[in-house]
Amino acid sequence: MFDKVLIANRGEIALRINRACHEMGISTVAIHSTADANAMHVRMADESVCVGPAPASGSYLNIPSIIAACEITNAQAVHPGYGFLSENAKFAEIVEEHGLIFIGPRPEHIRLMGDKIEAKRAVKRLGIPCVPGSDGAVTDDGEAKRIAGAIGYPVLVKASAGGGGRGMKVARSEAELSVALQTARTEAKAAFGNDEVYLEKYLELPRHIEIQVLADSHGDVVHLGERDCSLQRRHQKVWEEAPSPALNAATRERIGGVVTRALTELGYLGVGTVEFLYENGEFYFIEMNTRLQVEHPVTEMITGLDLVREQLRVAHGGSIDFEQEDVTFAGHAIECRINAENARTFRPSPGLIKDFHTPGGLGVRVDSAAYSGYRIPPHYDSLIGKLIVHGKNRTECLMRLRRSLGEFVIDGIDTTVPLFQALVNEPDIINGSYNIHWLEKYLARTAEA
Ligand code: ADP
Repeated sequence: MFDKVLIANRGEIALRINRACHEMGISTVAIHSTADANAMHVRMADESVCVGPAPASGSYLNIPSIIAACEITNAQAVHPGYGFLSENAKFAEIVEEHGLIFIGPRPEHIRLMGDKIEAKRAVKRLGIPCVPGSDGAVTDDGEAKRIAGAIGYPVLVKASAGGGGRGMKVARSEAELSVALQTARTEAKAAFGNDEVYLEKYLELPRHIEIQVLADSHGDVVHLGERDCSLQRRHQKVWEEAPSPALNAATRERIGGVVTRALTELGYLGVGTVEFLYENGEFYFIEMNTRLQVEHPVTEMITGLDLVREQLRVAHGGSIDFEQEDVTFAGHAIECRINAENARTFRPSPGLIKDFHTPGGLGVRVDSAAYSGYRIPPHYDSLIGKLIVHGKNRTECLMRLRRSLGEFVIDGIDTTVPLFQALVNEPDIINGSYNIHWLEKYLARTAEA
């Protein structure tokens, strides 16, 4: 195993990775910006290196600085976490050119899945079902109208380089399509420096269901079941659970089989998530994330596997030491993303956390780098922690979640805890009957009230 790993991230995920490393006897190097000098991920690591100023562009995205940090500390491998450089194929290549190991998939697969048009083409060839749409980019508005007419309105204009729900616009008619194309292109250009867009059928009632996979360098691929991430605001996940209230064992096995066969053929390595929309019993691929995801803990809670430990093992050349049949799903897990945001307006609320007390007890996990007296810097995203709750079934999980939310003390800033306190008492949530549009409708309804 590695002796020393550099964690190229911050916040809760850097701490999460640090924990797995320490359990495996691996020493850790944290990187940080000047704004994060006293951050918990720095305090918990064995060594730390300041890689630049507060804005992420000069620090957490500063490749030369991060490589230099590896060299001066003699780290052998780099774990990128999620966000920042985790899906940057160039970074993965540079890491390897310096004789270090990138803890993630091969650069060519990161690159392939980062281009959503190419990704769709590739997975289709591998037998994964996709959302009907344009075969590739649409450059001409006339052509876009022809294609939209053929797939049928409503359609969704999506950015080829998309991520984080940006550069996505719905068009319900030909009249709306030109505007949607224009705004999606402008938004994509600003966010990703690439204005290439494509069309997809806009699904009205789907759930977002994603399959977690793990692959080693010896050709073995297993799936670790699904996560249901249908509760979203602005196409961003807010609440995730496993298993999905909408799937049975046979359906899980069917889609899991399709995904593992495809990724075996691709020669994939590491962890990854294949994301689908699920409507009327059918799966439609939307994208693949070639990294550890924010919501990975719900899978860990029901499978008992440590996904970061598995990442480290396969990156080091180890084999997956269990078979697909050995993967079992016990009970139910739900994750709530706690953001430093107002629960009604979603305005970011950085600043000083005066008092911070996390819930505990059986089946309760909090992944957070916050503490009493911590000042949330305004430079990064607003996620300050994840509350993950496990129960022997969904009912127990919801009871435990309700209780845990009541124990959470975060004073001094606004957080999204009150939103979850309301959600756990909503009949549709209790019944598990919601789709990707449910939360937006709920928020619109409660804003009026
Ligand atoms: P991003 O990379 O920006 O996260 P995704 O392709 O993963 O974009 O989509 C994010 C979310 O947007 C999905 O979970 C879903 O809620 C919504 N979405 C994406 N494609 C469609 C579609 N064809 N129809 C309806 N909703 C969609």
